[in-house]
Amino acid sequence: MLKKQGEVYKEFDHSEPQIPLRSKLFSLEPIGIGTPFVESLTSYLHRLSEAHCLPVTILIKLFVIDRFPTPTDYYDYTKHIRQINGVSYKAVETISVVQSLTQRNDLSSLTLVNWSNVIPLHKLLRHSKAWCPRCYEEMRTNAWEIYDLLIWHLQIITSCLKHEIPLLTECPHCKRNPTIISGKSRPGFCSLCKGWLGFNSSQQLYDTDEWSLWVNKNVGLMLSQTKINLSNNSFSNAVKYYVNEIGNKEPYTFAKKVGVTGSTLLRWYNGEIQRAVFFV
Ligand SMILES: [Zn+2]
Ligand SMILES: [Zn+2]
Repeated sequence: MLKKQGEVYKEFDHSEPQIPLRSKLFSLEPIGIGTPFVESLTSYLHRLSEAHCLPVTILIKLFVIDRFPTPTDYYDYTKHIRQINGVSYKAVETISVVQSLTQRNDLSSLTLVNWSNVIPLHKLLRHSKAWCPRCYEEMRTNAWEIYDLLIWHLQIITSCLKHEIPLLTECPHCKRNPTIISGKSRPGFCSLCKGWLGFNSSQQLYDTDEWSLWVNKNVGLMLSQTKINLSNNSFSNAVKYYVNEIGNKEPYTFAKKVGVTGSTLLRWYNGEIQRAVFFV
């Protein structure tokens, strides 16, 4: 409808619109945060590189390596790439760099850094890839996003939390151990021969003992925590609780039950060794 003659229109707003900060790389949503099936940071880097149609090693070379606060050698970084899923300073630095590239703030959940006060570096992570063939097959059959679970990287985990079958470490095609990252690596495929690693395995657990299922369940619970508030004394307090509850208030009885020496237990008790939870 035409305005009446002489009527004053509303003024235009000439102020600059507030544009949210742009991310350098696609702000890809991580998979499984808040569940035991959360993906690993190396898996996230793979999927991020696929979103940009780049091999993951090129993405690291072009966008990540030069953004670290301290000069980092590319070959050394990729050789020890498994550490970025764990508790090392490289994990912390990688999270910071990739979060600034993607404008996300939730990538620490794809690693173990939130647990760095209570879990050990030693024997924490596998050196090569491990996977559940049924998980991969299920992802592909259902057209779900294919990714690597953080829990598969832990040395202490030997079976699938969901399917209760052994994790595999040897490619069924080339009979070699696929690496965690390479110029050819993609979640679900062998980094060496590019073969698909999923199938409906009917292999049963070799040792269907309660222990391995208990570890799976509890480590899964750990990984599903996104808000962790552990004080420096958390581990020491937990040990004191278990000494009272399981060890009948006898530290040496408890030490015997968990298979450590009395002096080690005493140091845990006094909070001297924090990173020991997996040994318990
Ligand atoms: Zn599985
Ligand atoms: Zn292979």
